[in-house]
Amino acid sequence: MIEEDYKRVWAECLEVIKDALGPENKRAFDTWFVPIVPLQLEGSTLIVQVPSPYFYEWIEANYIDLLKRAIRLQLGPNGMLKYSIVMDQTIPTDLLSTTLPSHGRTTVKNPLTDLPVNINKDHARELPNPFVIPGIQKTRVNPQLSPNYTLENFVEGDCNRLARSAGYAVAEKPGLTAFNPLLLHSNVGLGKTHLANAIGLKTKELHPDKVVLYVTSEQFMAQYAEAGRAGSTNDFIHFYEQIDVLIIDDIQFWSGKGPKTQDAFFHIFNHLHQRNCQIIITSDKAPGELQGLEPRLLSRLKWGLNADLQAPDVETRKAILRKKLENDGIEMSDEVIEYIAYNINTNVRELEGALISLIAQSSLNHKQITFELTKQMIDKYVQSSSREITIDYIQKVVCDSLDLPVEAIQQTSRKREIVQARQLSMYFAKKITKSSLAVIGMQCGNKDHATVLHACKTIENLRQTDRYIRNLVDELEKKFKEA
Ligand code: ADP
Ligand code: MG
Repeated sequence: MIEEDYKRVWAECLEVIKDALGPENKRAFDTWFVPIVPLQLEGSTLIVQVPSPYFYEWIEANYIDLLKRAIRLQLGPNGMLKYSIVMDQTIPTDLLSTTLPSHGRTTVKNPLTDLPVNINKDHARELPNPFVIPGIQKTRVNPQLSPNYTLENFVEGDCNRLARSAGYAVAEKPGLTAFNPLLLHSNVGLGKTHLANAIGLKTKELHPDKVVLYVTSEQFMAQYAEAGRAGSTNDFIHFYEQIDVLIIDDIQFWSGKGPKTQDAFFHIFNHLHQRNCQIIITSDKAPGELQGLEPRLLSRLKWGLNADLQAPDVETRKAILRKKLENDGIEMSDEVIEYIAYNINTNVRELEGALISLIAQSSLNHKQITFELTKQMIDKYVQSSSREITIDYIQKVVCDSLDLPVEAIQQTSRKREIVQARQLSMYFAKKITKSSLAVIGMQCGNKDHATVLHACKTIENLRQTDRYIRNLVDELEKKFKEA
């Protein structure tokens, strides 16, 4: 056999495996087979190197039949496979491919032959924890989770349903779902930190033994720099490699920064992923827009589930306000809650901010939270942050002026006044918002774009011919201008 044969044999095996797994399992192929490095051929035994014992265990548990088939196809019925498991990533691969180091190794059974396999074992030492203040003896990792950001407090709505239920699934079976990594992204103030934290808390509740850690990308970067200065970079990496559920918040912070930090994280990520540990990442940008992040890290982020959080609709905003009030033991009338929910529609942080200011105002001045006080406060609050008029808001104003409940818009009723409310909402939504006809139609009683166009024409015509409609439209127009 010539020297390069082991490479050719493994390349052929990979072809067989890739074929058998099919394109739908490309990710599994990339994760579990691409990292395998062929080292040597001894007769009909191929020796390959795998990155960790977990890796080897996983392959054995999941792909042994496939491997056996591929090897025997290449090397005949006596074909065998031997693993070399190398823990120390700092040993260059080219060194290993010429000489197989034999010191400091233990053996495990080879799945094909029952022959011993080498495992390097010099990793079994105590690992310092960068979160522990020196001098304090502590072995447990403090998860750094905030107790208030629970899943129970995270109100569900259309805007977050996928992310929330994926989060729950992850907490139930960390590392064992397809949602690994779980990437949560949204604009600011829409609940990424809350949800990521909530997943951490739920995991701890369901699996108290799991080591969970929440850390911001900024903290991670600072710790890494600190470890570099102290000459303890390896300890830093080993510490992170013990975590079962790692939450990294606001990864966009790394864009264009610290290639070495990203590199360290890349290694930790691979290690955790291979061990089926859960990784949860938040970002205020979608992966496609995360410019300046290392491409190979970016490609890892795309492995799992990418779930976005949208701005909540008005019903969810009301539910969030009610939840906050309930938690704080404060009562408010529905009218007040509705007014806040309809008027603050940028993000949840602003919504909470408005509620807190209102409560503060009322308690400082010993005033009851009346509708009037709310209106004053919220109008002032809204003026300072420019308000966008939404379709929800338009429907609410239209229905109020026709004395109809806002739900009427969604009914299939052909009653004249309901049809009119719907048409007016469509008309103003087209005039004021940037939404497409299709979106307007969907939100106004699940109609198609042609219905919206027809509604706009009808209102224009009636405006010319019907005094009542003309007055109504003028009055509504004034209201929207004031908003
Ligand atoms: P982000 O990290 O996306 O900027 P946060 O997680 O900090 O946003 O959320 C901002 C505030 O809004 C937090 O106080 C959070 O509790 C609250 N919040 C966001 N979404 C929800 C929700 N669905 N239910 C309850 N509170 C929410
Ligand atoms: Mg956040």
